[in-house]
Amino acid sequence: MSDIAKKKITELVEKLNKYAHAYYVMDAPVVSDKEFDTLYDELVSLEKEHGFVLQESPTQRVGGEILKGFSPHKHLSRLYSLDKCNSFEELKEWAEKIKSKFEKEIFFTLEHKLDGINLCLTYVDGHLVTAATRGNGETGENVTSQIRTIPSVPIKIPFKGTVEVQGEGIMTLSAFRSYNETAKEPLKNPRNGAAGAIRNLDPLVTKSRNLDIIFYNINHIEGFEIFSQEESIKFLKDNLFKTYSLFRSSNIDEIVAEIEKVKRDELDFEIDGMVVKVDENSIREELGHTDKFPRWATAFKFEAQETTSVILDVEWNVGRTGKLTPLAHIEPVELSGATVKRATLNNYDDILRKKILLGSRVFIRRSNDVIPEILGAVEDDRSDEKTLKTIEKPMLCVACNAELVHKGVHLFCLNSEFCPPQIYGKLIHFASKECMDIEGISEKTVIQLFKKLKVNSFDKLYDLTVLDISILEGFKDKKINKFVEAIEKSKSVQLPQYINALGIDNVGRKTARDLAEYYSSIDALKNATTVELLSIPNIGEIVAVSIVEFFQKNAELIERLKKHGINPEMKKRREGTPFSDLRVVLTGSLSQSRTLIAKQIEELGGIVQSAVTKDTDVVIVGENAGSKLEKARKLGKRVVSEDELENMLKTLGKTD
Ligand code: AMP
Ligand code: ZN
Repeated sequence: MSDIAKKKITELVEKLNKYAHAYYVMDAPVVSDKEFDTLYDELVSLEKEHGFVLQESPTQRVGGEILKGFSPHKHLSRLYSLDKCNSFEELKEWAEKIKSKFEKEIFFTLEHKLDGINLCLTYVDGHLVTAATRGNGETGENVTSQIRTIPSVPIKIPFKGTVEVQGEGIMTLSAFRSYNETAKEPLKNPRNGAAGAIRNLDPLVTKSRNLDIIFYNINHIEGFEIFSQEESIKFLKDNLFKTYSLFRSSNIDEIVAEIEKVKRDELDFEIDGMVVKVDENSIREELGHTDKFPRWATAFKFEAQETTSVILDVEWNVGRTGKLTPLAHIEPVELSGATVKRATLNNYDDILRKKILLGSRVFIRRSNDVIPEILGAVEDDRSDEKTLKTIEKPMLCVACNAELVHKGVHLFCLNSEFCPPQIYGKLIHFASKECMDIEGISEKTVIQLFKKLKVNSFDKLYDLTVLDISILEGFKDKKINKFVEAIEKSKSVQLPQYINALGIDNVGRKTARDLAEYYSSIDALKNATTVELLSIPNIGEIVAVSIVEFFQKNAELIERLKKHGINPEMKKRREGTPFSDLRVVLTGSLSQSRTLIAKQIEELGGIVQSAVTKDTDVVIVGENAGSKLEKARKLGKRVVSEDELENMLKTLGKTD
């Protein structure tokens, strides 16, 4: 084999590993998926042609053979568990006790307590040689073939000595949800998903779960000295590992304040607490270990977000698109400070796949604001089979008795013109602030509008007379006038808000804006073809088809609305403002509503994004900003406070 081919292969491997690190570890891709795939294919064929495959080649992450069993692996240094604190009081006492033993200032670090499976990876001479579970702390199971399939784990690192690094194998919530959307055997929860994938004899199973490992400790190192946790994290980062380190301080009150700021619901992975560690290694050595845990670290435990309960009944709800969603009534249970009585089951398919029956005990996960979700059935609880009953699939619409159809995994009622909950939902969405912004349309109003005045489509709102409105309960002179004015005012809606208001399936605020920008008028959008729609970034097959179908079905509605004077056109983006074409992300709690701020920025030519990506320009931060701010800093983005933003908007308003 020629040296040239060897060199080419080596270069490709290095390049691809660099790109994969940017993508999987840094969350900041540097090439498109397509470019990556092209290079990858090139590598595959070169490797095949020359029979030369580097150990660290990305092609070697594919899985390999199914193992017969796990062999034991002895860790170079023993792995310990963590002591716990259940209150801030206990945490402070723990810290004070340590401080009292030393003359000098003691620093503590703060990290997430990731809820996954503890893993320990050994690298020798820059290569991953073994990966093992914690086991009993001294000996674990060798799971190297499994770990090699995880794309964020480096196979080759710059450090050439011997090092054993420790981290947590996790399944992110997004990976968990997307896996469960199609899986024949859905997973019960992300922790089981991760543990089961790693302790599976078939590495292909591990690969299919899209795991991650977040590293937080150097368990053993030869040929390099590390003096603190801070340095450990830096070492890990420099050696291409994925890490999260949050905070460091010698003031335990500051650590407590930082813990209070953690927004569990905004993280894409489960944590069951926070870990506080003494930063300096020499202090750690003096403190030593008990039988089970180090004396220099402790876990501040959070309340559980997951529990189990029993399904009592299932109710089906019809949404504005006609979709029927099952909502389970469960035996009330306490979960992170609230009593949970209801939880969502997503769809009928989900019920079948998760083998959920009336009377089943199920895992429930709560995150703030949204309805808790049912993750899966507790299998060991099938002892009482007799009391279990299947959950009936509705044959007709539960709201209007119309026939139902399957679209994908969901059931839909097609009677969009007369099915009450669909009409209510559509009108409420149409009138909402982010859409036509018609003040005064509450759920109570739309029910009356439909029942008393037969308003079952958007245009009928614009036919309403003062006399009509006066028969609605609670509407008197002043309120009637205000309502009439609000309806009139809504006719001058802007195109993005109008497209959003129409309630096209799978088209939300962001897509509505993209469409408005591309087409500039509703007439142009109305005539769009699927092929053309697909050429717009971020618009896929499902969305494109939904749009085309919507305008086929609703051509007349659009005409009627036009007759009422609703036909907005997209103004050219304002140029020459500090916001022209600026990609902006809002995060943290802001003093005005996000929608309002977003609107102002968009009117000035800015583009509001929902997540920080590599093409974000500015991140506007309110109080208690979390992961988005962290990411903005990591990517070196411009960060602007709300005050600064207000000043910018004010000066522009004046010169306008
Ligand atoms: P426990 O299983 O509750 O005794 O907690 C100890 C486990 O927490 C360790 O074995 C690790 O798997 C896990 N863990 C998660 N995050 C961290 C972290 N940042 N530092 C140390 N251990 C962690
Ligand atoms: Zn219906």
